[in-house]
Amino acid sequence: MKLSKVQRLELKQKFGGRCAYCGCELGDKFHADHVEAIYRETETVPRHERKDPLNFEIRQTGKSEKQHLDVLENLYPACVPCNLFKSVFTVEMFRSEVQRQTERARTYSVNFRTAERFGLIQEVAKPVVFWFEVYEDIGK
Ligand SMILES: [Zn+2]
Repeated sequence: MKLSKVQRLELKQKFGGRCAYCGCELGDKFHADHVEAIYRETETVPRHERKDPLNFEIRQTGKSEKQHLDVLENLYPACVPCNLFKSVFTVEMFRSEVQRQTERARTYSVNFRTAERFGLIQEVAKPVVFWFEVYEDIGK
């Protein structure tokens, strides 16, 4: 859905002007995240008349099987990296993906392993709590 300026401002303030997930302060370029993904329908369109199967672009059709989820109540304000990472994940899938980040960094990043070996990084064992969960607790 296309938000009006006022709706976008209200959405930004939904959790105190912060990203619903990581809690960072939002600038002007925040995203309106569909908490439950709407799975936008896409189509592949050939770029030229000659139907070269390798020369196409993917376009959104504007349709979705989950159109009923494209409503204000299903929108959370999110910073760009959180929104892109969450993608079509549910909140719980997103949480478990975030929870895996330390192990993933350890597995794939020599920089991380080096920094950890020299005591520059210390893993903190704690659950991933989203800002909107904390913010709602403050409000109660
Ligand atoms: Zn965020």
